[in-house]
Amino acid sequence: MPSKVTAICPGTFDPVTVGHLDIIRRGACKFQSVIVGLIEEPLRKQTLFTVEERLEFLRDALSDQPNVVVDHFNMLVVDFARKWNATVILKGLRAISDFDYEFSMAQLNRKMAPEIETVFMMASPEHSFLSSSGVKEIVAFGGPVLDLVPPAVARKLAERFPVRAERN
Ligand code: ADP
Repeated sequence: MPSKVTAICPGTFDPVTVGHLDIIRRGACKFQSVIVGLIEEPLRKQTLFTVEERLEFLRDALSDQPNVVVDHFNMLVVDFARKWNATVILKGLRAISDFDYEFSMAQLNRKMAPEIETVFMMASPEHSFLSSSGVKEIVAFGGPVLDLVPPAVARKLAERFPVRAERN
């Protein structure tokens, strides 16, 4: 029986990958509800897809999950959690390289909102190499991403990055 806890799962999701979806679905088995929080304008990066496109990808891929809601925000993560009465921030951890950043964000968030706990789930081994930026790099050079992202995302990526003509 899932606990009566609401968790938020924040991210840029530019675009959502099967690695993100794995964490969200596993979270939905452990918490009463999971609110996927799409960061509208990340501070240090320009997004490839608009807020509307990223939301549509997430909503489409998660339409079979009754206790998952997709929302977007442009505020502190802890304020977004409070908006939804969430007491958990759910994050995925891929490798030691994620740890530094996630550790400091978790400590800062704890300082601002001690009532909210950051919970980490280890990436499934088959997704531990997978990132949105990796997907964009592969597709930009004509590589296959069909098993890395939902089909609707793969289609949109193919439109954005038509296969490059071979150079002689
Ligand atoms: P990315 O790092 O791919 O640009 P986001 O900024 O959208 O993705 O990350 C949101 C959250 O999803 C972070 O907690 C990140 O560690 C987690 N995450 C991203 N990719 C994966 C994956 N392949 N497996 C597990 N968690 C992941």
